[in-house]
Amino acid sequence: MDITALQETLERHGEPGFRARQVWSWAARGANGYAEMTDVPAALRSRLAERIPFSTLEVEHEARSRDGTVKTLFRTGDGVPVEAVLMRFRDGRRSVCLSSQSGCPLTCTFCATGQMRFRRNLTASEMLDQALHFRRLEAIDHVVFMGMGEPMLNMDEVIAAARRLPDLGVTHRRTTVSTVGWLPGLRKFVDEVEEPIRLALSLHAAEPALRSQLMPVNDRYPLADVLAECRRYFELRRRKVFVEYVMLAGVNDRVEQARSLAELLDPKIFKVNLIPYNPTGSFAGSSPKAIAAFESELKRGGIPTTVRLTRGRDIAAACGQLAASA
Ligand code: SAH
Repeated sequence: MDITALQETLERHGEPGFRARQVWSWAARGANGYAEMTDVPAALRSRLAERIPFSTLEVEHEARSRDGTVKTLFRTGDGVPVEAVLMRFRDGRRSVCLSSQSGCPLTCTFCATGQMRFRRNLTASEMLDQALHFRRLEAIDHVVFMGMGEPMLNMDEVIAAARRLPDLGVTHRRTTVSTVGWLPGLRKFVDEVEEPIRLALSLHAAEPALRSQLMPVNDRYPLADVLAECRRYFELRRRKVFVEYVMLAGVNDRVEQARSLAELLDPKIFKVNLIPYNPTGSFAGSSPKAIAAFESELKRGGIPTTVRLTRGRDIAAACGQLAASA
């Protein structure tokens, strides 16, 4: 729901100040429409239903994976595509992966989103409406800004959305913003966001030349500066930074490369999450054996390391596969 439009409309109708909060809190708790908001006067409910669409997004297509993952393709009011994913884990965790942009202007070579046309930044309401769609299905407890787009190119709206997530049942400690290392946004995130929202960094290669080849953004913002900013985050927030590292066969998965990565990272500050490559075209994924060897080398170097559980690959809902091609 467009929260700004809601506030303006209520004000214009001379409604008391608490009204917007009341309507929002129904929506945040998973209401299906204005009609359910029983403590809002009926006449006002129908006026709102006429004027403010209950969601800024329309569902165009929904796919369900064998593992319980749900991927939804939405359209915004002006028709740009947006995808979001609900992941269901065996331990009961329900995690929603949100898009911050329609498409992505960056061109990481292994990611499908970079291959579709970049349309625009999403508003905070458009991000919250992705989460609310799944909230209406069931309770959710984690959110990752790891869908389409680079969150740090749209920091203000991402943070405005993240600040409202506790109303949906997702605490700041269970909210993660992931970045390629877009420095201006990252600096702002470190300076201005006092909430304990988690930070994840897509690293993928310790050697600058290889990282630039995989992620052209590395030429613009050198890794050393990005890591220094992560250190500042750790010093201010006392929370570790997750490093995401996608495992590409014969490209970045050699044991020596694990050793350079372990040398680059301070184990006080970083934990590594190895991501099995999800097919998007140009690369081959590392074998489970190569991933295990890489993991043990990092651990030998004292770096806490985990391997990401792959979800939703059969419906192209896994990391790097969002490209809005329903
Ligand atoms: N732009 C931000 C937010 C997207 S997060 C960022 O890149 O951090 C999406 C994560 O999935 C990133 O870590 C990205 O590097 C990773 N990813 C991209 N393509 C992938 C693929 N084909 N297989 C596995 N992970 C991939």
